[in-house]
This record gives sequence, structure tokens and C-alpha cells, in this order.
Amino acid sequence: MTERLNVAVASAEANRPELEIRHLLKQYDNADKPVLNDISFSVPKGKVFVVLGPSGSGKSTLLRTIAGLEPIQGGEIVLGDEVIGQGDPASGKSRRAGAAGVAGQSRSSELRTRVGMVFQSYDLFPNKTVLGNVMMAPTLVQKRNKEEVKREAIELLERVGLADRQDAWPHELSGGQRQRVAICRALILHPQIMLFDEVTAALDPEMVREVLDVIVELADQGLTMMIVTHEMAFARAIADHILLLDGGKIVEESDDAEAFFEHPETERAQQFLKTFS
Ligand code: ADP
Ligand code: MG
Repeated sequence: MTERLNVAVASAEANRPELEIRHLLKQYDNADKPVLNDISFSVPKGKVFVVLGPSGSGKSTLLRTIAGLEPIQGGEIVLGDEVIGQGDPASGKSRRAGAAGVAGQSRSSELRTRVGMVFQSYDLFPNKTVLGNVMMAPTLVQKRNKEEVKREAIELLERVGLADRQDAWPHELSGGQRQRVAICRALILHPQIMLFDEVTAALDPEMVREVLDVIVELADQGLTMMIVTHEMAFARAIADHILLLDGGKIVEESDDAEAFFEHPETERAQQFLKTFS
């Protein structure tokens, strides 16, 4: 009896959402309709949640709102058991007026570090070495011990195959190497969830694999992730859960990635997948 109870508790824990999006509404202040309209879903702890959709469907906006880089006009963003984002119908306006509320400033720096994000363009600081880039936020923002941060940074760089490039400057690196540094820079803040927005889209084909391999390794280690990608084979291999966005709405959602790719239910999803085959 107790054993059965334990199993029940363990599986409830396994399905606990790490991130929950409730009725998210996002409208840019110069737009006449929302770019994300009543979006709800949850990302279970330790799972890989892949977001697909045509260009302009709102994928980047979705990740940016979760990262706290964009205010939302309705709904809630819940991380763990804490509301980290809440809709404010006036937020678009105050932003235009240049008031507080610019790019996530309503979030404390502590809260901001809990969501890690890597973008399509590798935005490393050009005047800092690889190691300096990775060490910057934990030492300056989190005020962590420098020696300890350095040890962790070197460990992370080893994990992504860049142990020998720690003293290199960003301009000396390939695109694939820069993206791996960007991943380390996010990981060192110990985020509860990592968001990847088309991180291989700007890379030469031969560098795509080295970056995707790092993401696969993170998935194997149980990091909770949301991934926007146009690499369909990768999406299919790594996804626990698939969401297809179109025109700011969820078109199809599946917790069986294999089934989604084999037999998409909606005509829109079938049509979308055809453009990749
Ligand atoms: P995706 O990442 O799926 O290509 P985006 O989230 O980048 O989609 O864009 C969704 C829609 O929002 C597009 O119509 C785009 O033009 C618009 N958009 C994106 N960023 C802004 C912005 N800062 N201001 C106004 N409109 C924007
Ligand atoms: Mg995008």
C-alpha cells in the first residue's frame, strides 16, 4: 500500500509543471491585433517542449515574454510555484512613454536569472574573453565568489568542448563556438528553464550539429527546456511535447512527438510539416 502511494507521489512530481502559461495575451503597442492570443500550456519539469510555427507566428515573442523581455497585456506566467509575469493591459503604453516596464525591468535581477535564454544571434560581449563572458553575470549580478564561478565556468566550457578556448576573444570563434559559449553563459546562472530561439538558424550547416549535440546532452541531464527550431529531424528526436503556433494561436499540441510528425491531426499541421519534407 505504501509502495503504491510512493509511486503515485513520484509520478505526480514527475508531471509537475515547471512552467505554466495561462491565457497569455501579447499585443505590441503599434499593432492592431494581438500577436499571442489566449495561449495556455504547461511545460513539465525535466521535459523538452518544442515550439514550431511559420515565420511571424509569434514563437520569438512567446519566448521573450517568458524571459521577461516583453511585457504582457493579459494572462499569467508561472514558474515553479511563483507568478513571474502578469498581464497589464496598460503595459504597452507605459513602454512607449519610456516609463518603467521597459524590457523586463519589472522583474528583479534574481527572478530574471531563473529563465535562461539563447538567441539566434550570438550576442557575446566583444571586449571580453570567452571565460570573461561566462563569468560576467554570476560575478556582477549574482555577486558570487569569483574563484568558485571561474571553476564552474571552466567546467561548463569543458562540457561543451571549449576547454581550450577560454582565453579566446569572441571574434576568434566560429559561429558554432560562439553559440556554445552563449549556452554556458546562460547555464552558469542555474536557470530553472532554458529557452532556445532558433539557435542554429544563423550557423553554417557544418556547425549546426555541434550546437544541437550540446542541447541533446542537456535534455539527457533532465534540464527543462523550450526550443524553437526549424530543424525538424532534431525537433522530432528531442521533443517530449510539441506545440504548433500559427497567427498567435495554438493550432495543435501533442505530448507524443512521434505521433505529431507521423499523423498530424489538423490540416494546418499537415500543411506546415509538408513544407519541410
Ligand atoms: P516568429 O518568431 O514566429 O517568426 P515573432 O514573434 O518574431 O514571430 O513575430 C510575430 C509577429 O509580431 C510578427 O508579425 C512580427 O512582425 C511582430 N513583431 C515582432 N516583434 C515586434 C515588435 N518589437 N514590435 C512590433 N511588432 C513585432
Ligand atoms: Mg523568431
